[in-house]
Amino acid sequence: MPIIHQCPFRNCYYMTELKKDLNKHKLTSHVTTIKTTQIKSGDPESMLEFGAKLGLIPVEYVTYRQQFLCVFDIECLECEYSGKKEGMDSNIEMEQRIVSLAAGSNIPGTDDVFFCRESSAPETEEEIIKQFVGYLEDVHTELLMQLPP
Ligand SMILES: [Zn+2]
Repeated sequence: MPIIHQCPFRNCYYMTELKKDLNKHKLTSHVTTIKTTQIKSGDPESMLEFGAKLGLIPVEYVTYRQQFLCVFDIECLECEYSGKKEGMDSNIEMEQRIVSLAAGSNIPGTDDVFFCRESSAPETEEEIIKQFVGYLEDVHTELLMQLPP
């Protein structure tokens, strides 16, 4: 009597006398192939390419990339909303209060900064915003220095 090779997969009753047939069966019958189609969404044309196509920007600037950037991170503390609630369409339960603010840039001549609030007094929040806006103005001035004359 020939040796019967049986498929080890659950609910599969395939049997064969040849070991190689079983191996082929396992490789072809129990492999799930998922076929998907990739679809591009959005317009692949950049604004620079669009500008060059219209003749507004010289073609050699199509590959231009902004090399300078400025980043920031604001840390907040969630507190119970303390402002006026009269006349509001939706109910606000909580509010975010700025605790600290960090900013940095790769523009030459600028330093990374960190501003931390001194107390919970509302004036200290205003102070931190003023420092941040002042920093952005300084960074902008340095950025202008990097532009060709
Ligand atoms: Zn099978």
